[in-house]
Amino acid sequence: MTINDNNSRVLLIYTGGTIGMCRNSSTGTLQPFDFSQFSACIPELEHLNIKIDVHTFDPPIDSCDMTPQMWISLVSVIAKVYDDYDGFVILHGTDTMAYTASALSFMFENLTKPIILTGSQLPIGQSRTDGKENIITSVEIAAAKRPDGQAIVPEVCVYFNWKLLRGNRAVKHSSDEFNAFKSFNFPSLANAGVELVYHEANIRRPDPTKPMIPHMSIDNNVVIFSIFPGIREDIIRHVLTTPDLKGVVMRTFGSGNAPQLPWLKEAIAEATSSGKVIVNVSQCMQGCVEMSRYTTGYQLKEAGVVSGHNMTVECAVTKLMCLLSQYSDADTVRKLMTQDLRGELSEQTL
Ligand code: ASP
Repeated sequence: MTINDNNSRVLLIYTGGTIGMCRNSSTGTLQPFDFSQFSACIPELEHLNIKIDVHTFDPPIDSCDMTPQMWISLVSVIAKVYDDYDGFVILHGTDTMAYTASALSFMFENLTKPIILTGSQLPIGQSRTDGKENIITSVEIAAAKRPDGQAIVPEVCVYFNWKLLRGNRAVKHSSDEFNAFKSFNFPSLANAGVELVYHEANIRRPDPTKPMIPHMSIDNNVVIFSIFPGIREDIIRHVLTTPDLKGVVMRTFGSGNAPQLPWLKEAIAEATSSGKVIVNVSQCMQGCVEMSRYTTGYQLKEAGVVSGHNMTVECAVTKLMCLLSQYSDADTVRKLMTQDLRGELSEQTL
């Protein structure tokens, strides 16, 4: 389906989510419906000087049902027509949007065009919906170019509630506010008010001499677990000795600390020396892991845990899944997990 026919070209990919949901009359719950029915709710799109083609996932899904296979399908859809469009907008449920945005940021290497994920808290057909503004501005950002013809924002981003955030820095922090996404450890890339203001200094610039490389593999032999007072040895040992487990995102206290339980350090050391990659990410939304600050953090470093610095959990787990699918050597994965590959981490929070 094509919405209008002008100079800039944007591909709008509809995966599902609240934005395109309607109420099931018998259960009263929200469920996804066909995009063609709701595009009619946004006549404003026809007034933009942008040619918009639409690709719909069939069937559209609640993003809780998102899978790594669907991330690969998204990469494949975009890679196939990459040269034909100025940018891409992905309509996505908010629940797992931060995971998809993070995964895509690692699956596209040397990205030169915008990939903007957006959705809404209220369905597009409902009064007071936030969906219209989110879609319209996302399309504008996806089409926006500098005078030299390069994209203004050649990154995977989340646009929501007047803010453009780097995708692998975004987290869904509210289930009921329109302001559903935040980037705690990195400033926004743009803000929409009367004017759309881009914060150039925060936007990554690709190397135009390198080709865009799509990566179409994911290894989901990973787990996320949180440290908490009362954590049990038998359960943690059971998790860490799961056959085929290759990577762990460990959510620790504060600046990367854990209880000083001899069995915990021993179980972690056994797992890392058997080739598992264990990444330390804080349970705090803001700030950075620093394992050398306290003895309670240093013991994890001694056990072979690597720092996730100030990555979000969503980012750490998807980065781990992508790297494990590309490299079989655990030390290489460990090294890359601590390095900034797509603007996803810094050793200090700005
Ligand atoms: N459960 C919905 C989804 O993630 C929520 C939303 O879209 O806001 O698809």
